[in-house]
Order: sequence, then C-alpha cells, then structure tokens
Amino acid sequence: LLRVAGLRKSFGTNLVLDGLDLDVAEHSCVVLIGSSGSGKSTLLRAVDLLEEVDDGVIELRGVDLADPWVDANAARARMGMVFQAYNLFPHMSVLANVALAPRLVHGRTKDEAESAAVAILERVGLGDKVTAYPDHLSGGQQQRAAIARALVNGPELLLLDEVTSALDPELVGEVLDLLAELRAEGTTMLVATHEMGFARQAADLVCFLDGGRVLESGPPEQVLGAPEQPRTREFLARLH
Ligand code: ATP
Ligand code: MG
Repeated sequence: LLRVAGLRKSFGTNLVLDGLDLDVAEHSCVVLIGSSGSGKSTLLRAVDLLEEVDDGVIELRGVDLADPWVDANAARARMGMVFQAYNLFPHMSVLANVALAPRLVHGRTKDEAESAAVAILERVGLGDKVTAYPDHLSGGQQQRAAIARALVNGPELLLLDEVTSALDPELVGEVLDLLAELRAEGTTMLVATHEMGFARQAADLVCFLDGGRVLESGPPEQVLGAPEQPRTREFLARLH
C-alpha cells in the first residue's frame, strides 16, 4: 500500500532521514521504534506531507506523493493522522470535531457528516459523549475521539505518532485496546511508539530506526525477542 524509498531529510546540518526505505502492506500494522530523535515523527510527518523532504519516493498505491504535481490536500485526505497530544478543537463538541473533515475535505452535507461522525464515535466507544466538549473527557476518551476523527473519512492508511505517551498510565490500555481492534479489522497502520508491549502484540512488522534508516526490521518476536543488530540490542536493553 505504502512504499517509501530513499527518503532523505535534513534540518540544517542535522541529517535525520538518510535514504530510508520502508514498505507497509495493506491490512498490516507496522510499528516504528527507535531512540528519541531517530526520526520516527519526521517520517510520519513526511508521509502525511506535513514535512517537505529533500529526496526520495513516497508512494501510496503506486502514486508518488512527493511529486510536486500531486495535490497534497487530496493525498492527505486518503490518510488519517493522530498525534501525541490530542489536538481536538476545545470550542467544539466531540461530534463537531469529528464531523469537520467530512464536511470541509470531502464536501459532505451536515447531516451526512454528522451521521458518519456518530457512527465512528460509537465504534470507538464514545457514543454517549457526542455532545460533550473535549475538556469534559478523560485523556483516553479525548485520544479515542482524535482516532475517530482520523478514521471518519475511511482513510487507506492510519498514521499514529506516540498516541499514548501523553496519557496517564491507567488510560493507556483503553487506547491500545482500540488500536488492536482496528488492526484486527484490517486497518492499515503505521505507528511510532515507545510501547513495546503494543509492538509485541499488534505489530506485523517492527522497524528499528537508527542513523536515519531502518536498521533492522522483522516480526516482533525477531526484532524485539532476538535482535541481530547490536544497536537494536542496546536500545532494547536501555528500556529495562
Ligand atoms: P521521539 O521519540 O522523541 O518522538 P523521533 O524519533 O520522533 O523522537 P523526530 O521528532 O523525528 O524524532 O526528530 C528527529 C530529529 O529531527 C531530531 O534531531 C530533531 O531535533 C530534529 N527535528 C525534528 N523536527 C524539526 C524541526 N521542525 N526543525 C529542526 N529540527 C527538527
Ligand atoms: Mg516523535
């Protein structure tokens, strides 16, 4: 579904992505791990066309999104992205937050957008919170609303950047459980996380980023259980 090849990105003299290659198969969950600063967020932002890259290919179903002729907004509308801090609009109800993109990006009527929003909010377990405002929700509920907002347009690819790292520990589980359900339903996901438990349970492929590339990748039992690269072993050892 997604093919990233030879991706390069520098911030000034700081080379962050150094010819990175990555493939995400349809209906798979690919988990990015690596030290802070290894470029996980930069990669996700590049795929979502929020970050201009210096070189490389980002293909979604064979269409190169890095091509300057590609309509970035149309390409972005095919993906859903969720960030660490649930960026819900505080002055809008949960329903209005989720219904916004279907109306603005996909040109649906208010009724269509709201019924799609209600359906997806029910799906993430927030059917009783549609009229609530974000600051009346727990962190876990807010993050589930942000995931609903990313899903409401039926994206081909869901991009998730540390979606549990701003949450109180007791709220992490409900969000990870939701992601595991989405994965079981066949949602294609590219996920940056420090949650090795999630990587172990839900990943089809774990990619360890180091030096601006995927240094090691494979099924979780291999990369997390029996890493080949010394750098991967060091990274995992530091987590304990
Ligand atoms: P973390 O695990 O802490 O989230 P990460 O793997 O997501 O880290 P990135 O946020 O992608 O890492 O950052 C990679 C490098 O790029 C870092 O050295 C960071 O300082 C740098 N960087 C990221 N965004 C910018 C920016 N907008 N301007 C300058 N440097 C940046
Ligand atoms: Mg990051």
